[in-house]
Amino acid sequence: MTTLLTGGAGFIGSHLIEHILEHSEEQVLVLDDCSTGRTQNLPESKRVELVNGDVRDQSLVTEHVQRSNYVYHLAAAVGVEKIVDHPLDSLKTNLTGTENVLEAAAEQNVPTFIASSSEVYGKSTAVPFSESDNRVLGPTTSPRWSYASAKAVDEAYGLAYHEEHNFPVVVGRYFNIVGPRQSGQYGMVIPTFVEQALTNEPLTVYGDGTQTRSFTHVEEAVRATYELLRTPTAQGDVYNIGAPQPTSINDLAERVVELTDSDSEIEHIPYEVAYDEDFEEPQQREPDVTLLEETIGWKPETELDRILK
Ligand code: NAD
Repeated sequence: MTTLLTGGAGFIGSHLIEHILEHSEEQVLVLDDCSTGRTQNLPESKRVELVNGDVRDQSLVTEHVQRSNYVYHLAAAVGVEKIVDHPLDSLKTNLTGTENVLEAAAEQNVPTFIASSSEVYGKSTAVPFSESDNRVLGPTTSPRWSYASAKAVDEAYGLAYHEEHNFPVVVGRYFNIVGPRQSGQYGMVIPTFVEQALTNEPLTVYGDGTQTRSFTHVEEAVRATYELLRTPTAQGDVYNIGAPQPTSINDLAERVVELTDSDSEIEHIPYEVAYDEDFEEPQQREPDVTLLEETIGWKPETELDRILK
């Protein structure tokens, strides 16, 4: 048996590989262009093979899906900077890549997991509607939201392929997954805070810091990811993957300063200065994971302090 991971050299992908190696006898095929992922993330094992390539390459994707019994499609352009600086490139990776994977997997009837994001929930509660506030795909005039829009379309693609081609597809919406090997280079809050604290630089909180996020340990996220694709009753559905333990960014910053015994100050930066555009973070993001619990018996147990340590 062979399992294909697109984006397997990345943060979540490399943890999923470790889980697969530990819980199965499967060979692991990694298709990754190593743009944000790194070969050093991959465990050393004869059962892991890296193909350095792009998910936008349809024939390459087809060739490797044909060799596989399961597909986890995690490859995506991620990180605010990358998405804002290269909106077209990011959109093509996140849309064409997913279409290529689904097309090939549908032809071969290979069960496929599609990685989505809590970003698809957007932020809008505002009435009256304005042109920049597209209720279906998010505020489309901001390049940052092209990521959320692409993920929403990826989900729709996944469900449509499942419906029309009658093959197993499952979608997982990740909520702020954190843990070892996550890079701070593309703006993830915990690695950024930890790095700032360890170098006694100010911790930079965007906005007033009262916004809350739900942080989930990567090992718990990959446990859910692994199980969902192997659970027949999960097929054709969308699942939140995240620990429902909301923490404000101010509290997070204080915990990081305390746990690292740092002299860092906490500095607040207005959104318009941080993002150089008219953009506000959603105030709250917290998953309801009842469906995940009912379907695969998943319950997150790792508390924030342990994740941070
Ligand atoms: P990551 O950047 O570590 O992993 C993404 C991987 O995809 C990288 O290894 C990168 O090199 C690869 N990649 C990018 N473009 C590619 C291309 N065109 N062809 C082949 N490979 C390509 O990020 P991650 O945090 O591990 O994210 C994995 C998936 O989970 C992504 O789909 C992301 O959108 C989703 N997600 C993650 C989080 C989180 O909290 N980490 C939250 C929501 C959604």
